[in-house]
Amino acid sequence: MNCYNINIISSNNIDYFLFTRNKFLSILQNLKESLNSHYELREYNGGFLDVCKTKKNKDKEKEEEIIICKNNIFILDKEMNRLEEDIKAMEEQLLSINKKIQHICVHDFVEDYIDIDPDRSVKIVYCQVCEYTKG
Ligand SMILES: [Zn+2]
Repeated sequence: MNCYNINIISSNNIDYFLFTRNKFLSILQNLKESLNSHYELREYNGGFLDVCKTKKNKDKEKEEEIIICKNNIFILDKEMNRLEEDIKAMEEQLLSINKKIQHICVHDFVEDYIDIDPDRSVKIVYCQVCEYTKG
């Protein structure tokens, strides 16, 4: 996923990094959903392969079905590996971007309270610009 590699040294524009982080998070979410769909499809194909095996000796056409199914699984495995690599690369990119944002943001901290259940809330201190949250 080298096309997403950004030059994190050359720019100090916080808006650029905030926008990029936002879009990278969206891409990461889509990659994870895509991986999950591939995983489900692979499971389904695997089940079909088992069904074919049990009928193999009775019907010659089933052997061809097994070959097609095995090929599908092979293609899905390759695609899943690629997606896993892309997810890893995207997570690394996001780490770099977050470090850069931390470094260049002129933090504007505000206090807020978040509800942890209907009766209790916890005070948090976060930056309004980059959303960095203190301890
Ligand atoms: Zn900040």
